[in-house]
Amino acid sequence: RSVATVVSGNKTSRLVRERLRQQVEDMTGLFSGFRPGLVVLQVGDRDDSNLYISTKLRAAAEIGIEAKHLRLPKTTTQEEVLQNIRSINENQSVHGLIVQLPLDSVNSIDTELITNAVSPEKDVDGLSCINAGKLSRGDLKHCFIPCTPNGCMELIRQTGVSVGGKHAVVVGRSKIVGAPMHDLLLWNNATVTTCHSKTPDLPEQVSRADILVVGVGQAEMVRGEWLKEGGVVIDCGINHIADETKPSGKRVVGDVHYASANQRAGFITPVPGGVGPMTVAMLMENTVQSAQRFLLKNQPK
Ligand code: NDP
Repeated sequence: RSVATVVSGNKTSRLVRERLRQQVEDMTGLFSGFRPGLVVLQVGDRDDSNLYISTKLRAAAEIGIEAKHLRLPKTTTQEEVLQNIRSINENQSVHGLIVQLPLDSVNSIDTELITNAVSPEKDVDGLSCINAGKLSRGDLKHCFIPCTPNGCMELIRQTGVSVGGKHAVVVGRSKIVGAPMHDLLLWNNATVTTCHSKTPDLPEQVSRADILVVGVGQAEMVRGEWLKEGGVVIDCGINHIADETKPSGKRVVGDVHYASANQRAGFITPVPGGVGPMTVAMLMENTVQSAQRFLLKNQPK
């Protein structure tokens, strides 16, 4: 049998970003000079965060989104972070606010408190309780969908495989990947099984998946032999493993063992170039959507 069809996040994200660029251009034309505004709030100076933020800022600039990077020092207190969030919440020219996690502070800061301080109307990461609650109840039109699962859905759409009535399996139940992925698949009418570290029979659960989404943070954990033949496999994992053949001495792999999985799956996302670029594109999508909602609400009657 032939190998799986590769579902490219690089290609799909480029299409999404091009559509967004056009939408912003139209907005700016209609509402003289209006531009969607995004703030990325960072506490501290982690290398991985710096890299992710620069990717987001670059994507925003290409699309015409006015993006600002607000970096607070490591010595920032919880109250200072909250004060910054409150002032951005009130700033009418900002439509999206994301707090880059993890917070890198010498002080103890309650991440949940910070996430929930972001106004639900500007919470383009979709991580506040309000947005997560709406999503879990199926109120998809009035919430912001977290970017990684939203990107996964877009990639599933690209395969042409319909979700309704299918058996979907999600491995992982985190707030940013697994849990919202479960909700999205469910409200797109799949029957969903969510697995986690206490699931005793993971290979058996995975073998039932017409659509499989994996976000566990364990390099190449899901093996090709576990998969249902011809299924859709979406791999969110980003893991660095040692590779002496590379100048950097390492390479990036997913949570799925690609070489064996592509022998069995019908469709598979690569790592890198799969879910990763989609996450950034979906953040831009939510920001543009937020700006559109803002214009609708504030349009002169
Ligand atoms: P978390 O560590 O927050 O969550 C991992 C989840 O996987 C948990 O629910 C955990 O179960 C479960 N899990 C861990 N080990 C196993 C196991 N052996 N068997 C079954 N389930 C297991 O990670 P994230 O959700 O934040 O990230 C997951 C992956 O996705 C990572 O590789 C990360 O780098 C990547 N990621 C990629 C993004 C992108 O843009 N492409 C964005 C965000 C994340 P339990 O709840 O029981 O602990």
